[in-house]
Amino acid sequence: MSRISYVNGRYVAHRDAMVHVEDRGYQFADGVYEVCQVRGGRLVDEERHLQRLVRSLCELRIALPMTLAALGVVLRETIRRNRVRDGLVYLQVTRGVARRDFLFPAPETRPSVVVSARNIDEAKVDRSAGEGIAVVTVPDNRWERVDIKSVSLLPNVLAKEAARAAGAREAWFVDKDGFVTEGGSSNAWIVTRDGTLVTRSADFGILRGVTRGVVLSVIAAQNLAFEERQFSVEEAYGAREAFVTSASQTVMPVVAIDGRPVGNGAPGLVATALRRDFPDYAKVG
Ligand code: PLP
Repeated sequence: MSRISYVNGRYVAHRDAMVHVEDRGYQFADGVYEVCQVRGGRLVDEERHLQRLVRSLCELRIALPMTLAALGVVLRETIRRNRVRDGLVYLQVTRGVARRDFLFPAPETRPSVVVSARNIDEAKVDRSAGEGIAVVTVPDNRWERVDIKSVSLLPNVLAKEAARAAGAREAWFVDKDGFVTEGGSSNAWIVTRDGTLVTRSADFGILRGVTRGVVLSVIAAQNLAFEERQFSVEEAYGAREAFVTSASQTVMPVVAIDGRPVGNGAPGLVATALRRDFPDYAKVG
């Protein structure tokens, strides 16, 4: 079956899905995006993703291209046309097409909207979760507004490529004070020796992960010990468990950091339980 993507009002064959050379997303990374999980053909946590999209757009003063209800229809239609059961749907909104100029284009310039969707091999993700993944730490050299989900991802690309070169699956960014901020495409967590879950607070230093938000609900519902604070690389080395969260892999145990085993080097009980319970708390619509 051939893939279909949505590009500025039309559903087109994926191989022909193009944007203009002067699209500001292409020229300046002047745009934002969302990646939502699809489970059983249904969108997971649509509302949280769309609210974050609205926030990202507002922060960059890009107009909402259509109502949220209309965006929801486009997301669902793209999922349907690609027969996605378990997978991901990608939505990107840029400031639109205009003659290349750093300054914002005329206000009537229409934002560009692109949506694509694909199945993912859930069994493969589950196998990874059963084994756990390795991460490596890299300096956080990103701009300060990483709370905006912008398509300006070059530091993340380089960090994840460095992780791959080191035989790891994810990179953890570390700020200038030695504290872990987040992963290249995930939020970072540890479980301390005394069993307390720790993740950095969602200030401007990290993306407010939708999965992170759902995991916070699981933690609250299960009355688990939790602290929202910074943790250093040293503390992570000595943690009992570590894991990352993102829409594409939900809760993924981390079993090695910079080549050192975390805990006993196997996926931890807390991360495994959170992964198991996560679907009960994510909103499927
Ligand atoms: N942090 C970064 C830098 C990301 O790119 C992502 C997801 O792509 C996340 C965190 C996790 O966010 P979410 O749970 O909404 O997928």
